[in-house]
Parts: sequence; structure tokens; C-alpha cells
Amino acid sequence: TKADNPYAGVQGYVNPEWKAKADAEPGGNRVSSNPTAVWLDRIAAIAGTTGSSSNGSMGLRDHLDAALAQGAGYVQFVIYNLPGRDCSALASNGELGVNDLPKYKSDYIDPIAAIQADPKYAGLRIINIIEIDSLPNLVTNTNVATCATMKANGGYVQGVGYALNKLGAIGNVYNYVDAAHHGWIGWDTNFGPTADIMYQAAVASGNVKNVHGFITNTANYSALTEPHFNINTNVNGTSVRQSKWVDWNYYVDELSFAQAFRTKLVSTGFDAGIGMLIDTSRNGWGGSGRPAAASTSTDVNTFVNSSRIDRRIHAGNWCNQDGAGLGERPKAAPAAGIDAYVWVKPPGESDGSSTLIPNNEGKGFDRMCDPTYTGNERNGNSATGALAGAPISGAWFSAQFRQLMANAYPAL
Ligand code: BGC
Repeated sequence: TKADNPYAGVQGYVNPEWKAKADAEPGGNRVSSNPTAVWLDRIAAIAGTTGSSSNGSMGLRDHLDAALAQGAGYVQFVIYNLPGRDCSALASNGELGVNDLPKYKSDYIDPIAAIQADPKYAGLRIINIIEIDSLPNLVTNTNVATCATMKANGGYVQGVGYALNKLGAIGNVYNYVDAAHHGWIGWDTNFGPTADIMYQAAVASGNVKNVHGFITNTANYSALTEPHFNINTNVNGTSVRQSKWVDWNYYVDELSFAQAFRTKLVSTGFDAGIGMLIDTSRNGWGGSGRPAAASTSTDVNTFVNSSRIDRRIHAGNWCNQDGAGLGERPKAAPAAGIDAYVWVKPPGESDGSSTLIPNNEGKGFDRMCDPTYTGNERNGNSATGALAGAPISGAWFSAQFRQLMANAYPAL
């Protein structure tokens, strides 16, 4: 039988390829021994790649063998290669076209499942983070053509269902499905509908128990907790929900959102034993810009803007956020309903290039990564807050890694 919490009581696998990049930075050895996830972001990553910016020569078997050699108890992979991937953005569109569901199954999921099922690895807890930025896009972003296509052709729901079924059937494998973050699905118009579509994908897998839990904030920057206010705070009689920053959201931070979404998922039909993960790799928001106390302003916007530790210009900003810091170090069972704080986005790896960089890795240019872009309806037509000088998604971004260390919270 599977462990209730696969993170509890065991050491995580340290990816030597990420560690080497972190160690090459001044002071990087202060953080380089933390476990980070290995992203299987293309078919070639299963065997190991040459000439790719985001992953190295180690393939899935190499990582599993290295995990055994390390004596690790758990190892984390990101399953990230759906047809029509990342339909509402351009920086991580991936290699499979909108009609490539059959190829996703036969050339991507099947080989991964075959390797993960090797009895040699039966003593490892293999954790799969399933398909970032996919299902929630079918709820909120169907005005984008590719998202509408992926909703209509079933590619995301069926693809996630297939992955859950194949990988969930293995006794020592644990599936956690990506569940966006509070700044994306924290409104009642999309909170319940997102839980419903997750349930559809789980049912498509044949058994909702193929889902061990969910992860929030993957590769995002939402603060774990806002220490100086919560959703019930009123400012001179006005709810913080009415501030421009909170914008009627029901959550102001990730921990409260993840716990509430867990409850919602259970009431939607998921197993009562599911646990949540929160990606804390880049949501620390420390450094000199971090407010030390609640503002004394009686104006709700001034109060929220001067009190919040999340220093983004808008909560819809997602690319290489200027001012961010490393968040909580990976930790098992940190809070009720939470299986672990994890570093799924490897700190220092870019979210996308800040200008168009021609490449043969299928990585486009998303203007949300351009510091000069003034935004769209998904970020309130705001400036992007992205760092300049960024390489394509997945490639090492030294300046960002240094800033993340400088602004770490807890501090290094
Ligand atoms: C990229 C992947 C990369 C991952 C982790 C994603 O945005 O598309 O290629 O492996 O980030 O850095």
C-alpha cells in the first residue's frame, strides 16, 4: 500500500545537474543540496538530451539510479508534455501539436511508466507532478484559441487521465495534479469549476484514487502566507477583498487557498486522504522590500499595497518576477492538509525569454516575460514585472538565481 504522505520521514533526491548549476554561482552551495524536481519536458528527456537548454544528459533511468545511489527516499518528476501544451502562453508550448494525444500516450507516458515500474526502483517513492498549467486553462482561458481547441478535443482531460492511470497503477508511484494558484482560481466563478474538471480527468483515469494529491503555485510566485492581513481584514470598514490587488478573490495567499481547495476537492469526490503540495521555490519575498508590519493607512488600496509581502505589480504576473526570493525550504508535513513544501520549479531556471530568442527547442516568446510590455486582460493590463536579460524557459538565468538567494525568506 502507498504511504499516506510519501514525503514523510525520508530524504529527497538532489538532482546533480541542477546542483552543479547552483554550485557554480557565488554562495550557491548554501542551497544546492535541496531536492528539486526533474522536468521531463519533452520525449527526449526520458533518455537524456544533448543540446537542450533545460535538461541535461541524465535521463529518467539515470536519475532513478542516482536516487538509489544517494539513498534517497523520494524522487520528484514533472510530467509536462501534453498535446497543445501551455495553451494560454507562448514561452513553454512544447513539442506536441494539438492533435498529438496518441503520440503523448505511446511515445511519452508509456515509456515513462515502463521505467518507473522497474522493480529495481520499488524501494523509492516516485512522485509525479502532473501537467502544469493545463486543466485550469480549460476553465478560465477558453477565449484563447488553443485552449478552446484543447477543451473541445479532450486532449488535456484524456491526456491527464491516461497519465494518471498508467502511472498510478504502479505501487510506489504517487501522482500530484497541478492545481494552479490562488491568484488564478481563487474566485468562486472558477474555484468549483476547476475542481470539477480535475474530477473529470481523474474519472477518465478509471479510478479517482490514481490521484494522491494536488500541487499549487507550481513555478509561480504567490506568497505562502501574507503575515500582515488575511481575507477577513477590514480597513476603515472596507474589506481587503475590495482592494485592487485582491480584486474580490477569496484568498490572499497560497496556504489558505491550498487548504480550502483540498476541502473542495474532497467534497467534489476525491479521496479524503489526498494531500497538497505547495511549490515554495520562489515565493519567499524577503530582502529589503519586505514590509515589516501592517500599514496604518485607512485607505484599502494603500493598506494592502504597503502591507503585502508579495511585491508583484499584479497577481497575474508569472514570468521571472523581479524582487522574488527563495521561499520555504522543502519540508514534509508543514501544515494541516499539506504533504510538503517542495521546490518543483528549479530556482535559477528561466520562465521564458525577455526578448525573442530564436531556438530549435520549440520555445516561443511570451510578452509576459518582456519588462517593457504593458500587459493584457489576464494581468489587469499591468506592467509585467519581469527581469530583463532572461534566456528561454528552462535555461539557466544566473542573475535571477542571485536575486532569489539575496531575497530568500527565510533568509539563507
Ligand atoms: C520549461 C521547461 C523547463 C521547466 C523547468 C518550463 O517553463 O518549459 O523546459 O524544464 O520550466 O525549468
